[in-house]
Amino acid sequence: MKLGIVGLPNVGKSTLFNSLTKAGAESANYPFCTIDPNVGVVMVPDERLKLLADLYHSAKVTPAVIEFVDIAGLVKGASKGEGLGNQFLANIREVDAVVHVVRCFEDPNVIHVDGSVDPVRDIETINLELIFSDIEILERRIAKTVRGARNDKTLAKELELLNRLKEHLEEGNLAITYQTDDEDEQKWLAEYNLLTSKPVIFAANVSEDDLADDGASNPYVQEVRAHAKEQHSEVFVICAQIEQEIAELEDDEKKMFLEDLGLSESGLEKLIKASYRLLGLISYLTAGETETRAWTIKVGTKAPQAAGKIHSDFERGFIRAEVVNYKDLLDCGSLSAAKEKGLVGLEGKDYVVKDGDVILFRFNV
Ligand code: GDP
Repeated sequence: MKLGIVGLPNVGKSTLFNSLTKAGAESANYPFCTIDPNVGVVMVPDERLKLLADLYHSAKVTPAVIEFVDIAGLVKGASKGEGLGNQFLANIREVDAVVHVVRCFEDPNVIHVDGSVDPVRDIETINLELIFSDIEILERRIAKTVRGARNDKTLAKELELLNRLKEHLEEGNLAITYQTDDEDEQKWLAEYNLLTSKPVIFAANVSEDDLADDGASNPYVQEVRAHAKEQHSEVFVICAQIEQEIAELEDDEKKMFLEDLGLSESGLEKLIKASYRLLGLISYLTAGETETRAWTIKVGTKAPQAAGKIHSDFERGFIRAEVVNYKDLLDCGSLSAAKEKGLVGLEGKDYVVKDGDVILFRFNV
């Protein structure tokens, strides 16, 4: 999973990115941690892994990971090529979801590019750039489709969608709010990979004082929440500056620090949970002496495709899956004890994998 961090200059993107990747880099040494200063890999905290690894005396524990890309430089006029705009827009095209950082903190020492704190105006500025860029893509596609559409029914249908979608965007709407039950239209929409069709999580960057009540008494946060609802997005409240401080702490210090602030989890954990929810993701687990590991899949994934995450051979040669809920397994103390109690299922190719399933795949090579 790849998340892109966007927002106007000076809203706290780099501060957030640095705290996220620092937190990630310290907990695990991923080889691709440093491929690019703007790309960071963070592990998904999952306490189930440690419990399972203890049970199996696993030599290695591998959590699921999320890749973050810091997409700085998105400014007014980006879609017209201002400030390397187009290059940044191309970076957004490659992510699964967008984390849009908005400034909800007052600080006379930090200049706002538009002179005042106004998160909804800021969101609209960024959205407009994304919309312009999408309209350009649609126009190119329309130009390509128009001729063939005269004597091809399918192309004619697609052209209709393109024109309707373009109108929708020209009215200032995002592609994600374009609703359709038509399967062809859904397929085409996915193909266009429009920037404004990506799921968005707003990170409302507040001052430290607003953390304890989750931004409830900050009017800017209320505005962001109302706006997010309209565009089917999630909001999470964060203080990027504090996150940076938290990222420097050891685990037990971290816990105390969070408790002092009246929080149960760090912004990183909040963000990861929000993105899992928004993208409809869950994790299943594999456990053994060599390795205990979490695998990320979409809700509704069937056993063979889930196996394919491990290796394509697992999917091709899939026979069946031995499945036990991680909690049942821990309660029983071993797989054979869980089997005796009838808690291990032998599942076929139509089995829909659930969050927290511990799975052993049987396959032909
Ligand atoms: P970017 O341009 O969006 O990447 O913004 P930066 O992360 O570079 O932050 C811009 C400035 O705002 C820096 O001086 C940060 O220290 C400051 N800043 C970031 N987050 C916060 C915050 O939560 N509160 C306050 N008061 N300042 C912040």
